[in-house]
Amino acid sequence: MLNPRIIRRDFPILAENNIVYLDNAATSQRPIQVIRAIEEFYKTYNANIHRGLYWLSQKASELYEESHRVVAGLINADWREIVFVKNATEAINLAMISWGLKNVGPGDEILVTVMEHHSNILPWYTLAEIRGARIRVVDVDDEGRLDKADLEQKISRRTKLVAITHVSNVTGVVNDVEEITGIAHDHGARILVDAAQSVPHMPVDVKKIGADFICFSGHKMLGPTGIGVLYISEDVIENNEIDPVISGGGAVKQVRISGGRLRVERPRHPWSLEPGTPNIAGAIGLMEAVKYLEKVGLREIMDHERRLTKYFFEKIGEEDLDQYIRIVGPKNPWGRAGIISFTLGEMDPHATAALLDSMGIAVRSGYHCAQPLHERLGFPRGSVRASFYLYNTAWEIDMLVQAIKNIVQKRWSR
Ligand code: PMP
Repeated sequence: MLNPRIIRRDFPILAENNIVYLDNAATSQRPIQVIRAIEEFYKTYNANIHRGLYWLSQKASELYEESHRVVAGLINADWREIVFVKNATEAINLAMISWGLKNVGPGDEILVTVMEHHSNILPWYTLAEIRGARIRVVDVDDEGRLDKADLEQKISRRTKLVAITHVSNVTGVVNDVEEITGIAHDHGARILVDAAQSVPHMPVDVKKIGADFICFSGHKMLGPTGIGVLYISEDVIENNEIDPVISGGGAVKQVRISGGRLRVERPRHPWSLEPGTPNIAGAIGLMEAVKYLEKVGLREIMDHERRLTKYFFEKIGEEDLDQYIRIVGPKNPWGRAGIISFTLGEMDPHATAALLDSMGIAVRSGYHCAQPLHERLGFPRGSVRASFYLYNTAWEIDMLVQAIKNIVQKRWSR
């Protein structure tokens, strides 16, 4: 069984700060192995990739390419299906620009859900504006779980894309993306799965899910900021559905002028979508992060976070806090990831988070970039979110529950 106390030793920030860090859905901390890999790159073999014949450049190039392979291995993809970008948001925008502009036209429909992060709504909204397409929003039930009947009712032959999150960054609800992919494909639609909150926390197998696009961010999975991933399935690539609309040096094989005309030959994927000097250090750091996660085991991590979530709900019950705490989404620990959003009575979420901060606990407050979901579930002022990762301990959950109890006692027990 995963032992967070041993894992914590690899995270310098956790040793240096007396903080209970429960904002992992926003960004994770980085282990020393990742920090060292980046340091080593800059100290010993920094060079631009794909451009130099000297050994420094070759080593940097090899590791940059190796990183595509390692990331592909994590999600059971082929390395040619992996495009490095800045973050999950950029990945979705790249899918929109390179696939959407080519394949979505007037009258076409794009399905999103109420539980999406704004990053999986706005790019599609922009595309719909540009192309004269229509966005349809699939509802959730009162617990925040996807309303499948509504999905089946709204999807049709006009649907060109279903854009859906794997795990909600507010409720921790896990969508059955394998089944939803089946439904999308039955209607001739492509599907993009926002895996920003799943790939870091559980085994994800793109072949099993069968989705066409998958995106995630390095910084939420022990890697550095500034590196993210867009997976584009071989099927989409082979079907010639991608336009290399962002292009330039590095994303081209030959540029020749012959007979006064420009002739351009593009390289194969993923290089045709990675123009310019990429985030080499980021890719090297991400590779190290993936190796770290694989060493610990994604199933172990998932189970650990589920144990912490269950423990939180048990403690809240034991301490009789149920009547003061309102959970966003399912009121029980089952079938959800290690993300719990809540409010305390009528207290403003920011005020609650500030009080928790004064007790050494770092949580997030507000809409967590998911305003439609908060409004749908009756939390118009947002919520406080605690989110767990592999280094969090049961003791930290005790601290959180104790802090909530202190706030409740001060405010309501007069
Ligand atoms: N999707 C989901 C589900 C997320 O939780 C986040 C980050 N909060 C994003 C997309 C965007 O990730 P990034 O800010 O790294 O682009």
